[in-house]
Amino acid sequence: MDAKRQTDAPAIDRLLQHLRGKLVQPLDTGYDEARKVWNGAVDKRPAAIVYCTHADDVIETVRFARATNRQVAVRSGGHNVAGLSVCDDGIVIDLSRMKAIEVDPVHRVARAEAGLSLGEFDTATQAHGLATTMGVNSDTGIAGLTLGGGFGKLGRKYGLTCDNLIAADVVTADGRLLHTSASEHADLFWGLRGGGGNFGIVTAFEYQLHAVGPNLLVGSVLHRYDHARGAIKFFHEFSRRAADELSVDAGLITLPTGERAFNITACYIGHPEAGRDALEPLLKFGSPIESSLEPRPYLQIQSAGDTLFPRGRRYYWKAQFLREISDGAIDAILEVYPKAPSPSALLVFQQVGGAIARVPSSESPYANRDALYDCFPLAVWDSPADDQANIQWARELWSAVSPYSTGGVYANNLGDEGEDRVRAAYGENYARLVALKNKYDPTNFFRLNQNVRPTA
Ligand SMILES: Cc1cc2nc3c(=O)[nH]c(=O)nc-3n(C[C@H](O)[C@H](O)[C@H](O)COP(=O)(O)OP(=O)(O)OC[C@H]3O[C@@H](n4cnc5c(N)ncnc54)[C@H](O)[C@@H]3O)c2cc1C
Repeated sequence: MDAKRQTDAPAIDRLLQHLRGKLVQPLDTGYDEARKVWNGAVDKRPAAIVYCTHADDVIETVRFARATNRQVAVRSGGHNVAGLSVCDDGIVIDLSRMKAIEVDPVHRVARAEAGLSLGEFDTATQAHGLATTMGVNSDTGIAGLTLGGGFGKLGRKYGLTCDNLIAADVVTADGRLLHTSASEHADLFWGLRGGGGNFGIVTAFEYQLHAVGPNLLVGSVLHRYDHARGAIKFFHEFSRRAADELSVDAGLITLPTGERAFNITACYIGHPEAGRDALEPLLKFGSPIESSLEPRPYLQIQSAGDTLFPRGRRYYWKAQFLREISDGAIDAILEVYPKAPSPSALLVFQQVGGAIARVPSSESPYANRDALYDCFPLAVWDSPADDQANIQWARELWSAVSPYSTGGVYANNLGDEGEDRVRAAYGENYARLVALKNKYDPTNFFRLNQNVRPTA
């Protein structure tokens, strides 16, 4: 143990006396498990991990970290691809054990603590036939997803997750717990609807819910790679004209046989029978290797991709928004995708637009509302020896597509990419975010995030 740790250990022990939750330090059993996040390529060694079980634990830890000049990382689902929810030497404030949820089916509102995963949230709301927009991997945390914007199958119909946020309880950098909404601390509430972890630690969220499911109609087709050009063009035409009820995602994948292929999956947000006509063109196009059209439980749809993204594998991606998929973009994609060093690599198109695009971009920090697709190469591999090749491939594919992008990016799909890219996520809202940061976090205490630097 080095001198610094010896000096700090008694101080950390004092923090422990004030906590309801658990604190894990480097010499404790379970430390190596506790410092892991979803991305297995992230390997950081915090001085302490505080598993909060109540907002009071969050307040105590924030005050302690400020008083002892410690860096903090804030972790809920642990899904940040760059590992910003864990740090070297500092304190991880972990909310993953705060999982209470109350659903009010009459007013269609859910009050959810920040440690819930999407799957846990969806399960609780679906018990009442309700849901709100959440992402496509059930293991992701509601906290990081909501605070960065949040899109998924319901986004085109009901808007971003942050558009469905009614209120949030947040611990600010000065250790106060504030209830925020459109009428209470409205400026801060605005910042929480897309501005990420810049302004405080959210302990609970209140969401507007909608009647969804229990079954939705899903159409899925798989096209051979040598038909991919035509299939991507079809995907573009089909998705850009789609009604808000349709959510159409697509991706280049490699099958277990080693063959490359292009998959399109569309989900109809409404009564399954009403979706048949809307999905018919998808099933009729080309000569897919496989196709299916069937009603599926919403909960199953929301976890259908889970096997693609298990915890512990190594991941890297670089994202950008597109307004259209031009021939140039298709050429670039088809040239670089096959160079992927790992058979698990994907090129993803996640459709946005619809209701998301009808909200004025000044309504919340999330600025890129006119985009139609979030497009990103997603590298997945297992050996550290392959890090460079996989990261390089993803960067090459991103660069090849970038001339055709809007220049914008989704804050939640940013890695550790620097200030210009954070500005690209927030566009014209950036200046307002800086003003908010000056007010609520002038010392940049919360800086392990897509950081908006204060100027105060
Ligand atoms: C496999 C996979 C699939 C995904 N699919 C989608 C998708 O369909 N739609 C979509 O919109 N996004 C998607 N994402 C991106 C996802 O929204 C972000 O990674 C998000 O940050 C994850 O939230 P988390 O709580 O799990 O993350 P964490 O890693 O725990 O946190 C990420 C960051 O959020 C902030 N943060 C976390 N908790 C709090 C809190 N309680 N208070 C304040 N700040 C906090 C911190 O700055 C932290 O660094 C996906 C990510 C993965 C890995």
